[in-house]
Amino acid sequence: MSLRDEPFLYFDNNATTRIDPLVVEAMLPWLTELYGNPSSGCRLGKLAANAIERAREQVAALLGCEPREIVFTSGGTESDNAALHSALQMNPERKHIVTTAVEHSAILKPCEALEKRGYEVSYLGVDSQGQLDMIDLEHILRPDTALLSVMMANNETGVLFPIHEIAEIVHAKGVFFHTDAVQAVGKIPIRLGESGISFMSVSAHKLHGPKGVGALYINRRTAFQPLLFGGGQESERRAGTENVAGIVGLGKAAELAAQFMEYEATVVKALRDAFENGVLERIPGVQINGDRTQRLPNTSNLSFKGVEAESALLLLERAKICASAGSACMAGSLAPSHVLRAMGCSNERARGSLRFSFSRFNTPAEIEKALELLPGIIAKLRDASNC
Ligand code: PLP
Repeated sequence: MSLRDEPFLYFDNNATTRIDPLVVEAMLPWLTELYGNPSSGCRLGKLAANAIERAREQVAALLGCEPREIVFTSGGTESDNAALHSALQMNPERKHIVTTAVEHSAILKPCEALEKRGYEVSYLGVDSQGQLDMIDLEHILRPDTALLSVMMANNETGVLFPIHEIAEIVHAKGVFFHTDAVQAVGKIPIRLGESGISFMSVSAHKLHGPKGVGALYINRRTAFQPLLFGGGQESERRAGTENVAGIVGLGKAAELAAQFMEYEATVVKALRDAFENGVLERIPGVQINGDRTQRLPNTSNLSFKGVEAESALLLLERAKICASAGSACMAGSLAPSHVLRAMGCSNERARGSLRFSFSRFNTPAEIEKALELLPGIIAKLRDASNC
């Protein structure tokens, strides 16, 4: 039996999402008969170039910005790295970077590498709800700060940061402001408009698009230095022959996300809430991690007292439930989540945390099924650890 025939409950949408069949349909011609190089002047090339421009419009429409402010990349990681790189290149005399302790490794790891090269990085802490202190943020910016990078939504807890408020503070100080919006795009409305955000990262596979493609929003008033040099693609902002099918897929995924935005805020949120309330009612010793009011509509991060997430995932897998312990990129590592630790959670609470993240492809029947299975799984794990 192939994996496709097995009915499993996929609650790991912050790791990646199921590609929408309409996205696959839109991509297929660009993987088959429409194989032109967008930089080539021939008919097939021009068609591909036009398809990229159409995708740029679709992504810009979702983000409420201008198409010329969108540069296609290979995904969220590249977009994050490109924004950091550009801000430092454009401000060579400034050697200070500010970010938060709860960012994704696509920001934290390049920051670590920059520290080794002589940059100073300040990591803003969060409170027990996973929220930032705006006064701390304002005070940490210095005349030699080149860039502030603060994510829009946390991948582990779904906690939302007040990005527009932050943009105003930063704008007044003349510091570049990057936001990693990989988890937010497609899940909550975003209107970039006249905001003071300099850069924003997007990844297609988090919004029912393909993997290996994303975008970097570059504010039209923000000076930019590319990360990759080579051909003149993307108006000299990102060299390399474009991933045409992937870009078309991202465009279609963005168009669909705009159509499903209300659904996300109502139906997907209701599924998440039904799951979360059901777990709290049926299983004792469960705590919700992260600010419940300022949170993505699809994410639930729960700590189960007396349970090791690693063992829980094995039993969930057997019950055909896909979820995560902290972020997917940390899978295989026994270290407790850096996000939960930054929120002041004990090691035990952090190690017992599971992330369930939902999408428009989930159904109420799946939630019911999971709620039937989960109490038994948790009880079994607790019995085993008491032996
Ligand atoms: N930033 C955040 C917040 C993420 O959740 C992820 C993916 O998990 C990334 C960046 C990396 O994106 P990509 O997988 O497209 O490189």
